[in-house]
Amino acid sequence: MKIVLEHLTKIYPNRNRKIKDEKIAVNDFTFEIPDGKLIGLLGPSGCGKSTTLNLICGLEDATSGKIFFGEDDVTKAPPENRGVGMVFQNYALYPHMTVEQNIMFPLGNLKGEAKLSKEQMKAKALEAAKLVQIDEYMERKPAELSGGQQQRVAIARALVKLPRVLLLDEPLSNLDARLRLQTREEIRRIQRETQITTIFVTHDQEEAMSISDMIVVMETGVVQQIGKPQEVYDDPKNLFVAKFLGTPPINVFDGEVKGEKLYIGECAVLDVKGVADQPVFIGIRPEGFVLADDGVFECKLSSVEVMGRDTSVVSKHDALLGTEIRSIIPAENKVDTSSPVVRFNLKPAKVHIFNKETTERIYFE
Ligand code: ADP
Ligand code: MG
Repeated sequence: MKIVLEHLTKIYPNRNRKIKDEKIAVNDFTFEIPDGKLIGLLGPSGCGKSTTLNLICGLEDATSGKIFFGEDDVTKAPPENRGVGMVFQNYALYPHMTVEQNIMFPLGNLKGEAKLSKEQMKAKALEAAKLVQIDEYMERKPAELSGGQQQRVAIARALVKLPRVLLLDEPLSNLDARLRLQTREEIRRIQRETQITTIFVTHDQEEAMSISDMIVVMETGVVQQIGKPQEVYDDPKNLFVAKFLGTPPINVFDGEVKGEKLYIGECAVLDVKGVADQPVFIGIRPEGFVLADDGVFECKLSSVEVMGRDTSVVSKHDALLGTEIRSIIPAENKVDTSSPVVRFNLKPAKVHIFNKETTERIYFE
């Protein structure tokens, strides 16, 4: 089921009439989520991710704009008629019910022709439980399950009605690191098997990048960029997106364009054809540094960390906005640790420059 959002906006009203504290949680979202895909909705805490999911499933009313599932306008439809399965961050399982009863619960309020017999409900619950591989625990209570298992029950419950759309709100945040990795692979598998259009919300860029067909990066209620994870990483539209994606993060410097050359301090580090003279922010990905004795960019060497396949070179420069430059170079390139300086050339595709006022990307040839 394709999902289309048209100028979707949610404004929470003033709570205090003396001061203006209206909150635009979701600001003019327009985008289309293709049928059968897994979308990562990514952004820092408080940027409006949960509000977006609540609008799509109908727990919140939109202030303006429209939501379509396929050709159906569901903007005003009550939640139970939308055919959405939702998994909340805290699972919200019923503690006094067994796993089976929890999974069956949404089937109990089907009415009229859709009403199911107890046997039909049990069969459907078992099918959903098998899909998330929790079927051997049907008689247990949630308290008798690990966090990862509880999460599976929550996913099975969201899937039991065969929803048109599956919404997952930070589904992995309560799990430890190992389980998080395993469960995210599991979610990917379930999504592939069921082909249900899925929106996966997270503030963790690595999580979003690793399992999504497409990511939507947002900040303070505004969509910043939409695309395939690798495309957004390679081609960030603005400084926020460039900084939000990537570990270690992109290194950001104060810089300047003079005579179609890019300067960091005294060093002319790159040709930037077609760019007018101006002060800029310069972002350099850790993998954009190439160690070279006669390199154009001189930094103060701090330390070298061996990581097996790669080496992490930590250095400093006065123009850096931050504490240290993190560069990643292949392990076979040896760094002279007796020298106080380290010199690099830069890979042009890994260097992005940004307008200092708007922080929008400036493109160069
Ligand atoms: P996220 O899920 O990305 O962390 P939310 O969607 O929960 O963000 O919240 C977005 C913004 O809307 C936040 O600034 C939050 O404080 C505000 N907000 C959320 N719910 C309400 C509400 N019921 N009333 C007023 N403001 C709200
Ligand atoms: Mg949230």
